[in-house]
Amino acid sequence: MRRSLVAGNWKMHGSRGANASLVSEILAAGHGDDGPEVLVCPPYPYLWEVGKALKDSGIALGAQDVCAEAVGAHTGEVSAAMLVDVGCTYAIVGHSERRALYAEDDQLVARKFVAAQREGLTPILCVGETLDEREAARTEQVVLRQLDAVIDVAGLDAFGKAVLAYEPVWAIGTGKNATPDQAQEVHSLLRRRLQQENATMSACLRILYGGSVKAANAAELFAMPDVDGGLVGGASLNGEEFRRICEAARQAGA
Ligand code: PEP
Repeated sequence: MRRSLVAGNWKMHGSRGANASLVSEILAAGHGDDGPEVLVCPPYPYLWEVGKALKDSGIALGAQDVCAEAVGAHTGEVSAAMLVDVGCTYAIVGHSERRALYAEDDQLVARKFVAAQREGLTPILCVGETLDEREAARTEQVVLRQLDAVIDVAGLDAFGKAVLAYEPVWAIGTGKNATPDQAQEVHSLLRRRLQQENATMSACLRILYGGSVKAANAAELFAMPDVDGGLVGGASLNGEEFRRICEAARQAGA
């Protein structure tokens, strides 16, 4: 039985004041052990303060990215060990905004995945196709290429301590989510890819859906058998929306 996960990706939003209000709303929602695991991923400068505010709440802290290198002359970068040091247990890798806007290729994403795991972080590997790729019927090819690039470097068993997120690029920040059937089709494809070689690990792997998840569509998405929660961008910045998304995951039988 997989415990679902609802992860809030705050992207480059927030301030110390706004974060304090959002965190107090999230804490007031009282996420317990009986529902989904809840995770928030603030921007780097706020990790420590948000982590302190979440202490003993059971809500996990994650980073939106991580450097592929362990230490040294990498101006502007943040290592996995630093993220662990400030209380992170998760790191998102391969978000489509990083791939598209910061030219991160499959190989770099794979190295980030390994760097995160080496320090004990759980990587959340994002995969997803653009609209052009979907319309050209290349969704399967693209997401499997992105997944296989990480398997090649990290090994298949590494997914025993990782989370996958299917995030169709055309659904991110657009208000147009994948339909539950579209999401299920890709989630099932990803799980079957891993199942071929390690059925137990594949059955335990959590696969999140991301792309315009909101309170109004979360229940139908989370009801799909291979959708194990959500990676939520815009809606995670609103405490009440986020609470309702977490509640939908709980109702779906997290
Ligand atoms: C994301 O940032 O990963 C995301 C899915 O964003 P949104 O929910 O705003 O589409």
